[in-house]
Amino acid sequence: MSGEFTTVYGRNLVAEVPAFVHRPYLVVTMDDLWPRFAESLEGDGLAGVHLVHTLELSELESIVGGLPPAASVIGLGGGQAVDVAKYVAWRRRLPLFQVPTAMTVNAPFGHRSGLRRDGIVRYLGFAIPEAVYVDFDVIAGAPAGLNRAGVGDILCYHTAHLDWRLTRDLGREEARWPYDESLVSAALERLDAVLGALDDIHDVTDRGIRTLMEAHRWGGNTFHASGWNPRHIEGVEHFLFYNLEKRTGRHFIHGQPVGLGVVFGSVLHEQGVDEMVAALHRAGVDIRPEAMGVTWDDVDGAMRTLATFVREAGLWHSIADERPVDDAVVAAVRDRVVAAYGAWEGPS
Ligand SMILES: [Zn+2]
Repeated sequence: MSGEFTTVYGRNLVAEVPAFVHRPYLVVTMDDLWPRFAESLEGDGLAGVHLVHTLELSELESIVGGLPPAASVIGLGGGQAVDVAKYVAWRRRLPLFQVPTAMTVNAPFGHRSGLRRDGIVRYLGFAIPEAVYVDFDVIAGAPAGLNRAGVGDILCYHTAHLDWRLTRDLGREEARWPYDESLVSAALERLDAVLGALDDIHDVTDRGIRTLMEAHRWGGNTFHASGWNPRHIEGVEHFLFYNLEKRTGRHFIHGQPVGLGVVFGSVLHEQGVDEMVAALHRAGVDIRPEAMGVTWDDVDGAMRTLATFVREAGLWHSIADERPVDDAVVAAVRDRVVAAYGAWEGPS
């Protein structure tokens, strides 16, 4: 599809960066990543390094003002670093080069930055990278859990399209987003590709990396290409994650709460529950609350208050507006997850 970012797959790609990006360059990355790549990027060309600690817009404004002059921006990270790199490139009008270090989210392939304003997610800005460099060895070197969680941002196409269909059937479509079967089938095509490569994604093979990153590449672009329409790629499953994040104030690995949200949404829609639980389990994404540092009580609260949350947050129409979350729904979600993953026995 036209508009997808130029994406290069290969090896030893970080070491090449200083040889071709505009100098001096600013690296936007994370505390735990910089030591791994400093040797390749330090030198005459380096203007500075910004280690991301916040996605809050009010804080980022002053951070951008304090960064040293630079001729380009290098985003180096899983999700947050590439989002902040986009934001810096946008505010400073600088060329951007993205180097995703894990497959966690589709952020390297989207135009806008997923930031927070008073804790609520906002997709802001506009940046087209010169290229996105996917290094097989860099990705394979990331914690397996980060890579595997990336399937959450593709499996969400399942619940997203159910929400959009429901909205159409109820005659409650937003005027700006009439149901579009071609967008839905394009999304489900990517979903099928990922479902066909779950073992490779689990093992982070070259094929797994290519399959999941190409799905992310499509997903990152389609929001823009469809006229900023998120309906075929995001719905109730992300809403649950946003509510959980707001209620607990915790930082999550995106695909874990989104994956749990996919199961929750599938239960509400009564469609594809078994397939989604099995896919998440096979890819190795632990969607138990304890694995994300929260409790079933936190998740229960987020599920039961979702209808209120989505209206307050001004989110689009979904099954959260239509089906009350009662004890039966809460129990069904928990039972499905525990049946597949077992009860939590690790530290909590
Ligand atoms: Zn997402």
